[in-house]
Amino acid sequence: MTRSTFTFKELKRTNHREIKELQDKKFRAFIRYQVWPNHPYYRRLFKEQDIDPFNITCVEDWAKYNIPLVKKREYKDNLRQFVLNPSQVDGKEREPAQIVKNLMTYSKKSGYDDIYKTLRNNGIKTKLKIGPESAMKRIKEKITYQYAPLQFWLSSGRASGLPAPVFLTRHDNDMLYKNCVKVGQMAVDPWVDSGWELVSMNLFPYAPHLGWHAVNLGLKQMSKFYVATSAGGAIPSEKLVEMAGAFKVNGFAGMPSYLRNRFFREMADKKFEAPEKVVLLLAGEKIYEPVVDDMVGTLQEKGAKDVRVVGGYASSESKISFAVQCERHGPYHNVSPLMLAFELVSLNDDGTYDFVGEDESGHMCLFHLDGTGTVFEGFLLGDVASHQERGKCPMCEIDGPFFWDIGRTNDAKAQIEVMGLSEKKIKGATVNLTALRSDLLSLSGVEEVQIEVAKEDMSDPYSMDTLNLYVAPHGSTSADHSSLVREVQKVTKTSTEVTPNVKILGFDELVQKAGGMKFMEIEDIRPRPA
Ligand SMILES: [Zn+2]
Repeated sequence: MTRSTFTFKELKRTNHREIKELQDKKFRAFIRYQVWPNHPYYRRLFKEQDIDPFNITCVEDWAKYNIPLVKKREYKDNLRQFVLNPSQVDGKEREPAQIVKNLMTYSKKSGYDDIYKTLRNNGIKTKLKIGPESAMKRIKEKITYQYAPLQFWLSSGRASGLPAPVFLTRHDNDMLYKNCVKVGQMAVDPWVDSGWELVSMNLFPYAPHLGWHAVNLGLKQMSKFYVATSAGGAIPSEKLVEMAGAFKVNGFAGMPSYLRNRFFREMADKKFEAPEKVVLLLAGEKIYEPVVDDMVGTLQEKGAKDVRVVGGYASSESKISFAVQCERHGPYHNVSPLMLAFELVSLNDDGTYDFVGEDESGHMCLFHLDGTGTVFEGFLLGDVASHQERGKCPMCEIDGPFFWDIGRTNDAKAQIEVMGLSEKKIKGATVNLTALRSDLLSLSGVEEVQIEVAKEDMSDPYSMDTLNLYVAPHGSTSADHSSLVREVQKVTKTSTEVTPNVKILGFDELVQKAGGMKFMEIEDIRPRPA
């Protein structure tokens, strides 16, 4: 039998061999009957490389046929080519009847029996002229549900113009709904049998990114009561702590730096009674031990006896699902192995790559096994994990694929090799600083600019990131530059989501500050965590 996805209960009782078998089955159906007919980028790639998609039987075959991995740079240059488009094939219009036929085949092969039946029954009605108009309408509704983009997540960074969007359809949205709740279920699993009930608070920033929206959908499904906020965006952190106290919140989800440097700092200074059991779900940034220690310490001081901390791993490109830790020092479990596969690859000097063995580290590589809208196969996420295993987890005993120690490729040179561009993560937003610099230099009032990434408290490597812009204006520095400063702030906020500190300097002063002859256009002076 083929199935579309697992509930959390099913995930817990299925072993890794069955999962791998179902993964490959879904992958085959997806490549042959969804990607090959409808994905402009991979269709062209298969043709150029003379690859028969019907020869691809499992994810590992991607390396066997040496199909190029996709770097972020490549994606940014081909945004539309990555969106499934059933209405065209090789640049020509496709017959509507063929669109329906393709989707019928895909639905049948991938376990979407209800879609298959709807299309088949209404297709027969149309042919036999039994209420053909309403039958046709139902077919159209299914096609729209499957393929019409409904919303987007902004992908990291940007090349030029608008940030790169990753499109989701209604089908994707329904899959996201089913998958995101599993992240929360994993987080609270050991406590559920005792009758413990979650009162949760979403402290992610509100933006068109996966984080806030997925947490919103997931927490709303599984909480007894849910407090939706936008981190410090709409309500000050101090008030959020009051709200948490008033509603007796026992589950907090957010980015580690915001939680540690704002929310829990406010909590530490206040009269606050923490519930006995508290869960923290962290995502969006690398999670450092001292940061977690600080937050757990504050909760314990306020009376918490048992604090569970789990990290989540996702990206805009993973779109509809995640991996999540089963406990603070546990591995990351893929909660939707039938929706997507996280694989580790090693990159060889000759441009080829290999899937690594169970004890090797590798670059994180994403394969979609389901979903519509924007679809990625063999996409390099720019993160490195220490190793991946399939089998029983030593911590939670869930039997499936999981990986350990995920972190970003930070060295700029290594990053350019892996992703084709250099990005920095600032306050959780991934920012392409090269693009920002060229945007700022194109402002008529700006003669030169240096971009500096720093920390709010330079003696504390875990304090909030700040972005400092040193701007040399055209003409005299003694003139009033307040409107230039506002303009620079606006451009920066628009393209990076970060409001910068702007300092006006004379041209000579700026050149000297930025290193004279060895002018450092972009400098990251953040202290490194020990
Ligand atoms: Zn586990």
